[in-house]
Amino acid sequence: MPEKLSRRGFLGVAAAAAADVSARSRSASGVTGSESLDDSASAWFRRTRRWVQTNLNEQDPATYDAALWKGYWRSTRAQGVIVNAGGIVAFYPSRFPWHHRALSLGGRDLFGEILAAARGAGLAVLARMDSTRTYEEVFRDHPGWFARDAAGRPFKTGDLYTVCVNGPWVRECVPAILREIAERYRPDGFADNSWSGLGQKQVCRCDHCRTGFRHAAGMDLPARVDWDDPAYRAWVRWGYARRTEIWDAYDAVAREAGGPDCRWLGMGQGEPSRMCEDFRHPSAIWSRSPIVMLDWQARRAGEGFEANAAAGKTIHGVLGWDRLVPESTALYLGPTRPMFRKSAKPEAEVRLWAACGMAAGIEPWWHHLGASQEDRRQLRTAERLSRWHAENEAYLVDRRPIAPVGVLWSEVNIDAYGRGEAATRTDQPFAGAAEALVLHRIPWRAVHADHVERDAPDLDVLLLPNLAAMTDAQCASVRMFVEAGGGLLATGETSLYDEEGRRRGDFGLAGLFGAHATGDHRGSVAGPAASPWGSGEGHSYLRLRDGAIRLPALDGFGETDILPFGGRIETVRAEAGAEVALTFVPDSPQSPPENVWMREPRTTIPALVLTAAGRGRVAYSSVDIDRCFARDRIPDHGRLLANLVRWASRRPMPLEVEGPGLLDCHLYRQKDRLVCHLVNLTNPAAFRPYATDLHPVGPLTVRVARPPDLRPAGARGLVAAGSIPVAAEGDWLVMTLDRVLDHEVVVIESQG
Ligand SMILES: [Zn+2]
Repeated sequence: MPEKLSRRGFLGVAAAAAADVSARSRSASGVTGSESLDDSASAWFRRTRRWVQTNLNEQDPATYDAALWKGYWRSTRAQGVIVNAGGIVAFYPSRFPWHHRALSLGGRDLFGEILAAARGAGLAVLARMDSTRTYEEVFRDHPGWFARDAAGRPFKTGDLYTVCVNGPWVRECVPAILREIAERYRPDGFADNSWSGLGQKQVCRCDHCRTGFRHAAGMDLPARVDWDDPAYRAWVRWGYARRTEIWDAYDAVAREAGGPDCRWLGMGQGEPSRMCEDFRHPSAIWSRSPIVMLDWQARRAGEGFEANAAAGKTIHGVLGWDRLVPESTALYLGPTRPMFRKSAKPEAEVRLWAACGMAAGIEPWWHHLGASQEDRRQLRTAERLSRWHAENEAYLVDRRPIAPVGVLWSEVNIDAYGRGEAATRTDQPFAGAAEALVLHRIPWRAVHADHVERDAPDLDVLLLPNLAAMTDAQCASVRMFVEAGGGLLATGETSLYDEEGRRRGDFGLAGLFGAHATGDHRGSVAGPAASPWGSGEGHSYLRLRDGAIRLPALDGFGETDILPFGGRIETVRAEAGAEVALTFVPDSPQSPPENVWMREPRTTIPALVLTAAGRGRVAYSSVDIDRCFARDRIPDHGRLLANLVRWASRRPMPLEVEGPGLLDCHLYRQKDRLVCHLVNLTNPAAFRPYATDLHPVGPLTVRVARPPDLRPAGARGLVAAGSIPVAAEGDWLVMTLDRVLDHEVVVIESQG
């Protein structure tokens, strides 16, 4: 391997990146590249639906127990394995001196042995890589390969040094490793862990980056992370372009050396903002993936299991529902920190997380760290659910959701508006909206803001949760949707910014909202929890307009004139004729009790504006109730969101589930049947790990709108219910489930 990259090679890459940057500036959404799946239906990435990963460590070559893992593949009905080949550590005798071999490898070829054993068992094999970090010995020999901060210091994670994505390691060494592995072993493909290098919050200032960025963008590297700096924003665009270019280059090497179906796949997360932060442009990356290797291993502290379903909906929302999305599911203990990588996670925690994933088109991929497991429970956790998946997989793929509520998101909003604070600015509103829909059992899907026109035929309502940065084209497609009779719920600063994050004079969707921005706001996104006790900051309310309790949008609030608030309100002026259903009651003291009275109990500041724009109903909430709901979980906020969606929809939701419990409900259509998932999340650990037991609910009444072309021939539960009587009530099919433990999947078959 040459130490220095040739001038020709570098300029060629830089020019390509420059072209990509300028293309992206024209295509404001930033979605670059796409690929249709024209490969044969029998390719491994089309049919491998259950995966096992043994994430090898440096000691494993000395003690790897082949029989144990072969038995595990069998007991989980695995169809594919992911096993370490190279990158940080080589588990085969690589010919490259700079490719660090596992400490205990000796003369052994552990990767080759495992690959042969898996092939012998009829399994697909992905060679696992980790291509952006390596050891000190390589750093000493090749200092020019590594990322550098402003002071010239290398970036390190623990003992490992991070390479620069514009340097020779990524351009030449990794492709050489891929070629070596592909030619020698012919794996089915590659899966790479941390392939994208440094993220948006760390600017590499090595010579490759200085020269490359100057060539691509005609300017110096940004001085710091600053979204107001045009150089930083150009650097972000360049960063995305470079990663998609790396993806394409690695994939090309894999296919050339390993055959047309030998695909290189970088892993990605389940939340778009996390992808963006790592320069993995979600739409561009997912559309390049013939199978999406989802590295979203467990819920986070404070998160419900249904977050996993949201990840599946987000990915399938971009790609459609025919692509496989296996998810690396941690069977070790996390999200507590540190993660206890060698200890087993309780089976109930894994089951509920994975069942939510399966309900949203995610396939199992059981993930273990290290080949030797002293906590042997870890090897039993997945067995039952994985077998169930194998026996019922026909019902879990090749289907389309029946979910008439589309919740919008986009990379433009995450970057141009989120500006490094996406967790609060864009993620929380999305999560709060999604959470409210789950709690109120409203079937929803995630819709990319560029796909409104494409997805419109399947949608009754669009929900724009503080979708602040929108392109003109995105605004136009939402307008068209409403004018054609679709419903709309938008919150907060939706459409107030363009794709560069510049504030518009008024909402891009002002014509639909019946409300106009005044340029002012009150309250904060931090919420009352951030205000000192006794300050009264955030102690605000929403007041129902006199007589407003008759509005269906305010259903359930008949006994109150006020709702708690505590968030941020965009100050707007409502048009004459618009229905202002809620007004804002400003902050007042919360302590001491003698002092707790509203200083300004009535204002005319609109908090909720209802209109009929064209043929569709529109609810514009100038208050960030979605963000508030994600943050504070005040029940009225969730109910209000659900009410507004039902009101905007005009027609009933196609799935109604009655009975107590916290349920994540999904409805799908397969060619000649309906498939309905009910995941029972009723659990004392619903929002705080770890679930240790399952808590059954029932009876539940399930009502499904009968599609006109479906003549029901009976229903059955794939998990426990067995045969289920179906009653026809008008256009509804009604069933009763006596008991649901962790999940049930109801299949309603059509006659003939
Ligand atoms: Zn660099």
